[in-house]
Amino acid sequence: MRLIFIGPPGVGKGTQAKRICDHFGILHLSTGDILREEISQNSLVGQAAKQVIDKGELVPDNVLLDIMAIRLSQNDCKKGYCLDGFPRTIPQAEGLEHILRNLQQSIDAVISIDANEKELIKRLVLRGNNSGRTDDTSDVAKQRLDVYWKQTAPLIEFYSRRNLLQSINGVGEIPDITQQILNGLS
Ligand code: ADP
Repeated sequence: MRLIFIGPPGVGKGTQAKRICDHFGILHLSTGDILREEISQNSLVGQAAKQVIDKGELVPDNVLLDIMAIRLSQNDCKKGYCLDGFPRTIPQAEGLEHILRNLQQSIDAVISIDANEKELIKRLVLRGNNSGRTDDTSDVAKQRLDVYWKQTAPLIEFYSRRNLLQSINGVGEIPDITQQILNGLS
């Protein structure tokens, strides 16, 4: 099973992606986690990424495509995965198609989770207070939502045209939302 999770920051896509991965026993690949790991190691990629992430903007497509081309070709990806936070732009989605063609793999479904903007900002600011993530302040959260609408939301149409899209309402109890996703996959 290979899945992509799309959704605005704060919608709970990371939470749901993890629960779905546990259910199927597949790998959870979050590009946010991968980049934060690079930052904590103070690598060259990490140093460049930190500047961009703290402004609420996106790390360049070629950086993410290089990272994911390597990551997806590793052995532990063979049994399947959930992609959380990637692709985030149309060029990334096109690049991913190229990577998957080379690996002779395909995506089974794209889960798009949504919620209204007020709810999202409330959740992000709350998460910032608890997680200490430097990009979860109110101003940066608004910027990230803006970037989502401009650069990531077009993926909904992209995957809808490929008949892969499953749309899910992100407001509700966590287990209920997981169940809705599972129902759509069976
Ligand atoms: P969230 O889902 O809450 O927005 P993530 O943990 O997925 O947060 O990502 C945090 C930040 O990492 C993003 O705001 C962005 O700057 C960077 N990032 C993560 N994935 C990508 C990607 N695929 N392309 C570009 N930047 C990314």
